[in-house]
Amino acid sequence: MSTLHPRLDAAAADFIRREHRLLIDGRWVAASSGRLFEVEDPGTGRIIARVAEGVARDIDLAVDAARRAFDGGDWPKLKPADRSRLLLRLADLIERHGDELAQLEVMDNGKPLAVARRGILGTADMVRYMAGWATKFNGEAVPLSMPGEWHAYTVREAVGVVGQIIPWNFPLSMAIWKLAPALAAGCTIVLKPAEQTPLNALRLGELILEAGFPAGVVNIVTGFGAEAGAALAAHPKVDKVAFTGSTQTGKRIVQAALGNLKKVTLELGGKSPVFIFPDADLEAAVPGAANAIFFNSGQVCSAGSRLYVHARVYERVVADLAAYGDRLRLGHGMEEGVDLGPLISRVQMERVRGYIEKGCSDGATLVSQRRLDGGDGFFVAPTVLADTRAEMSVVREEIFGPVLCAMPFDDDDLERLAGLANDSDYGLFAGIWTRDFGMAHKLAKRIRAGSVSVNAHMVNDPALPFGGFKQSGWGRERGREALDIYSELKSVAINLG
Ligand code: NAP
Ligand code: MG
Repeated sequence: MSTLHPRLDAAAADFIRREHRLLIDGRWVAASSGRLFEVEDPGTGRIIARVAEGVARDIDLAVDAARRAFDGGDWPKLKPADRSRLLLRLADLIERHGDELAQLEVMDNGKPLAVARRGILGTADMVRYMAGWATKFNGEAVPLSMPGEWHAYTVREAVGVVGQIIPWNFPLSMAIWKLAPALAAGCTIVLKPAEQTPLNALRLGELILEAGFPAGVVNIVTGFGAEAGAALAAHPKVDKVAFTGSTQTGKRIVQAALGNLKKVTLELGGKSPVFIFPDADLEAAVPGAANAIFFNSGQVCSAGSRLYVHARVYERVVADLAAYGDRLRLGHGMEEGVDLGPLISRVQMERVRGYIEKGCSDGATLVSQRRLDGGDGFFVAPTVLADTRAEMSVVREEIFGPVLCAMPFDDDDLERLAGLANDSDYGLFAGIWTRDFGMAHKLAKRIRAGSVSVNAHMVNDPALPFGGFKQSGWGRERGREALDIYSELKSVAINLG
């Protein structure tokens, strides 16, 4: 395993080279399978680490630990301010180890170092934001109209033991989006990271112990979805499962959860529309729409993958977008000045290239100029497809790669425009670029999606709820809603006599 990038600092390199175990009940233990699985650097395709392959038995042990920590021990006795303090300590640790975490993110996921660094700082902000809610997560007094005198109130209580299953596109952020609100609400957790990107979750596990969270509050079981993930989703002692990933796997989670009717929240796929109107500031709209699809090499659930451009500016916008994509520098995330890293895996690269070929054979025009010729790593060049049509698979299905499908519109009927946006099984996000705010508000109202941005893309503020309509998911993360999904509401009514 001498295949680590030479620019890696000692801290990150040492961590990657270590033996990677499971975090169960506050201790690092080998998987009961005794097996390890390989982690590759998507920038080179080489194996960089071996990680414990947790199986159903390990999920049982982790759930038991989480159950004990929820039902007894120190955790339930902590005051909200104590939970808040622990989270704030964790945020400080994340920041203090920001460079190391960013480098682990690059080696695991492939994204450019500068992007990873911003992401890591964002996770510290998210933890602090959620830490604030721990002390403000109250119910309310309820005025009853029944005969007699009453004192009635609601109270929010932690939902219990939570299984959290996360994807590989933003390894640390996805872990934090799940962990921070659940911890603020007082839950205990079993986290299953994606098999492609287990490293940062494991490093985070160490920081969680260092911050002082009691044993069993956060357990981390690395392993495969079909084994460890499925066991967690089906586990009878888990009260809730929170999942981010593909819509297909999300449906399996729902089925697995049926046994004990555990609560389920899902953050699933998208095929998000972006509109550029002829009055838009194109100096902002073109890079905005480009980043909406090319950022993180398109491996973003809210990627703006369907672009509707008014016919008056269509030719120009499409040409500018393709040129923008052609200028982005591709490379290993640890190299200086890289804009885009590789895709996560060979499978994903082949899947995305397959979509591009299918789009072209279905009649789309490939506008981008760059062609990649072999080399290491799982790279796909930013790709703009013009002349796409609603029925094409590239327009209907989530590609999860840097592939933009552009279509002109020549219409000012908002119902019909919203119809274009809504012609999808998904409803995660929509973008609107215009100077006409009245029109933007009206269109935003008609689009069935969990988030809409006007003259911006992906507003990633911890306070702003995020989640999907339709098959993009159930529930909202971020904002206060992120605590709601980790709680139960109890009503208490007292007859004052
Ligand atoms: P995925 O299967 O949905 O994986 C997400 C997480 O679910 C991973 O931790 C995975 O474990 C786990 N998992 C898989 N099967 C499971 C099961 N039966 N029960 C419980 N957990 C299970 O996604 P993927 O296979 O990595 O990627 C496939 C496609 O999904 C992508 O091309 C993209 O279109 C979409 N995707 C969407 C998002 C998003 O944020 N919306 C994120 C990632 C992928 P393993 O990693 O071990 O399989
Ligand atoms: Mg998978």
